[in-house]
Amino acid sequence: MDNILDFESLKNNCLDCKQCALSKTRTNVVFGRGNPNTKIFIIGEGPGHNEDMEGLAFVGRAGKLLDAAFQSVGIDTNRDCFISNIVKCRPPNNRKPQKEEIESCSTWLDQQINLINPKIIVLAGSTAVESYLNIKEPISKIRGKWIERDGRKVMPIFHPSYLLRNPSKEVGKPKWLTWRDLKLVKTELEALKK
Ligand code: URA
Repeated sequence: MDNILDFESLKNNCLDCKQCALSKTRTNVVFGRGNPNTKIFIIGEGPGHNEDMEGLAFVGRAGKLLDAAFQSVGIDTNRDCFISNIVKCRPPNNRKPQKEEIESCSTWLDQQINLINPKIIVLAGSTAVESYLNIKEPISKIRGKWIERDGRKVMPIFHPSYLLRNPSKEVGKPKWLTWRDLKLVKTELEALKK
């Protein structure tokens, strides 16, 4: 990435952010993890307890499941993806981020997207879908279909926390559907390499 230095300075600026009230209760800003020089950007909702403690995105139980789901289609989240969230600081008690928090944090997400310039964006869960696509549709309706946005292909998937609550791998269940959705992502990634 030509912009690697810009990405580092963006990160340093983000780590100092005090744009919204979440900065008062966070332990760490969670800028993201993975490879910024890549084609896939995965966007979740916001850091939970483990992420807040470690300063890394998706490192708790949901993150481990997300990693395993991508691995099952041959995608390594640290090597092949950059992973971040709609908001970079943990909302107290893991509540949903509020509109003003999402709006003020979108400056960081927009800059991350501009610098990484991913060809594929995977939106994990309804908060990511609503915030990034401005669409209020149940995730069960919108997941699994490519949506074009700013010349990128966007794939909504179930949030891994939802999959933790719905662990069945039976055909047609959320985990199986997610595996199918991620196979579409893998196919697209391979097509981009040609
Ligand atoms: N859930 C999210 O949406 N993001 C994380 O980083 C962790 C859990």
